[in-house]
Amino acid sequence: MNEGISAKLAVLCGKPIQDASNQELYLALLRLVEEQAADRVQPVTGRKLYYISAEFLIGKLLSNNLINLGLYDDVRDCLAAAGKSLSDLEELEPEPSLGNGGLGRLAACFLDSLATLNLPGDGIGLRYHCGLFRQKFQDGLQTETPDLWLTDESWAKPTDTVYPVELAGQVYQARLYRLAVTGYNGRTNSLNLFDLDTVDESLISEGISFDKSRIGENLTLFLYPDDSDEAGRLLRIYQQYFMVSAGAQLLLDECVARGCNYHNLPDYAAIQINDTHPSMVIPELIRLLEQRGIGFDEAVDIVTRTCAYTNHTILAEALEKWPRHYLEQVVPQLIPIIEKLDALARTRTEDTSTAIIDGDDRVHMAHMDIHFTHSTNGVAALHTEILKNSELKNFYQLYPEKFNNKTNGITFRRWLLACNPQLSGEIEALIGPSFKQDAGQLELLLPMADNRDVLRRLSDIKARNKEALAGWLYQKQGVLVNPKAMFSIQSKRLHEYKRQQLNLLFLIHQYLEIKNGHIPAVPLVSIFGAKAAPAYTIAKDIIHALLTLSQVIAASPEVSPWLQIVFVENYNVTAAEKMIPACDLSEQISLASKEASGTGNMKFMLNGAVTLGTMDGANVEIAQQVGNENIYIFGQTSNQVIRRYDAGDYYAHEWYEGDPNLHRAIDFLTGPEMLRAGREENLSRLQDDLRNKDWFQTLPDFNAYLVRKEQAMADYAKDPLGWQRKCLVNIAKAGFFSSDRTIAEYDRDIWHLG
Ligand SMILES: *Cc1c(COP(=O)(O)O)cnc(C)c1O
Repeated sequence: MNEGISAKLAVLCGKPIQDASNQELYLALLRLVEEQAADRVQPVTGRKLYYISAEFLIGKLLSNNLINLGLYDDVRDCLAAAGKSLSDLEELEPEPSLGNGGLGRLAACFLDSLATLNLPGDGIGLRYHCGLFRQKFQDGLQTETPDLWLTDESWAKPTDTVYPVELAGQVYQARLYRLAVTGYNGRTNSLNLFDLDTVDESLISEGISFDKSRIGENLTLFLYPDDSDEAGRLLRIYQQYFMVSAGAQLLLDECVARGCNYHNLPDYAAIQINDTHPSMVIPELIRLLEQRGIGFDEAVDIVTRTCAYTNHTILAEALEKWPRHYLEQVVPQLIPIIEKLDALARTRTEDTSTAIIDGDDRVHMAHMDIHFTHSTNGVAALHTEILKNSELKNFYQLYPEKFNNKTNGITFRRWLLACNPQLSGEIEALIGPSFKQDAGQLELLLPMADNRDVLRRLSDIKARNKEALAGWLYQKQGVLVNPKAMFSIQSKRLHEYKRQQLNLLFLIHQYLEIKNGHIPAVPLVSIFGAKAAPAYTIAKDIIHALLTLSQVIAASPEVSPWLQIVFVENYNVTAAEKMIPACDLSEQISLASKEASGTGNMKFMLNGAVTLGTMDGANVEIAQQVGNENIYIFGQTSNQVIRRYDAGDYYAHEWYEGDPNLHRAIDFLTGPEMLRAGREENLSRLQDDLRNKDWFQTLPDFNAYLVRKEQAMADYAKDPLGWQRKCLVNIAKAGFFSSDRTIAEYDRDIWHLG
């Protein structure tokens, strides 16, 4: 045991550890981490990265920081010696609510890898008071309440730095908050979050609604405030500009302090625009440079060489296009610059499809990004190919040299070392500790793929993780699950393209088959975690259908020993960390071409789950890594899907009529069992959508999904060690998906930091 840490904690508590309360110990640990993190701040030389993002889904920080600072084992042991438990202290930490899903989690993993690789790179974002929302289920429906996560002892500390930001002609003061980002054996960087002192949580009335017109009080209340009305859409522009203007001023200040004369800004700074939300940084930085005496043409050149853009989706609704009059209202100072950029872009091509301001007077943020940054990247190999060959084809023809791929990754510190210490310890016992710094070393496990002792130990660890998840589910939601069942997990944002509804149809089918005496190969516990956007009606109907079906199954004594649905409330990073280590079958069943990458798929793989998925996003690269015998692939290819969309000849009804199993499952949605437990309005709306619309082509993949999933269940039941072998290969081949690899590629090809 480390006496130094013990003594230090006692000093920070002002009393012996055994006499301190958990709250006192938690605060002492915060201070310990802050001190040690501050010791690792390094002076910046050369080019520094500014990663601007509307979201940073960072998760709880205590364990993560202790691991990265090399303190975790010592702290855990010295607490244990005093009869205290580190995991009890972790419970006291609220999870920061600064993100939504994969995009925000990616930003968090990138900050971890930047600091771990000793690269100078800070995040820039907003300090949301309530983040997204807290999800609760009431009578089988999702309800939303504010997630008031900020406390006095939050990791993000206010500074004296404030920047003026002009919104609709009025000047507001953006205060900088700083949060230390520790690297694993690496440096300390910062996450810079801006906020207004005047934001007032008491503005929130019922649920998550609030007066959208009072910008001074509501600006940073919520991430992605409801945009179903104009005031909500304007608020999103207010937020975006506030973030990029304050961020750009901070960046210029820091660069000037290091000797930059503006002309040479690209030698001092690289900006990564994470999706289109921060796109206004382009005209804003031009504006600020002009204010500082740089001519327009040179400013455009400087900004283009400084900025790079990441595209995260091909879903049209996510590529922001703002009516010009919105921008005129909120940021009139940018309008002349955006008009000049539009004119300049039009001199480069006759093709008006790439215009920044279109014929309907809408400003296309992604178009501005591609014209006026030096790099546009997709987030998985397939996604980038789709961008080049279809979605952004016209841009690719104009700027082939700007397009590049950076397949996403995850930090193994959080998604293996912290969330699955048993597995991490076993791997260390088998191949030594070097995989923690160099994920490629996991391949040293491959020669053990036929070692039955190793496979049995992996199987024991999974069994214990499943028992732990079962305990957590019971404590949190009062549900009892059978840990001996196969656990299949689909946890991610709720969206029709991710096709939770496909899983739903399978589960209905299983229910009906079991009722008819067809007993499956193995009992299945099907676990979901997903928030639906508050205004996304069909997504909420899917949640309702799953919650209702879960009751129907639980009420059936013939079916419930074989099938169970558990929907985890308020899915977030903390929940993910409990669920992922306990998964047998990872559900990655998006409509091919629609999931840009996915990162959940990588986390499950790393924790020894086998993927059941479509050839979409990074699933394609997972399949390449592990080989077809270690993954269950099904469904249409992205080319087939794109062709169907182009031809416009997909009719859900034909599939409904043509497949009796599908017909029966869809009919069941409004059958007597479901209507007894659920609501007709929601269930029939979903049924109608599936039968007549099904924009995300669920029905053509139904049969293939059924066959593949039943195959996986049979393999799992018949040959447990053979299954465990697949798990081992997945772990061994996960190294490619470390965000350390992703960040090294960004640095090599785009940023050139330091
Ligand atoms: C990783 C992660 C996601 C992204 O999951 P996908 O399956 O890639 O959509 C979303 N939410 C949380 C909490 C995560 O940890």
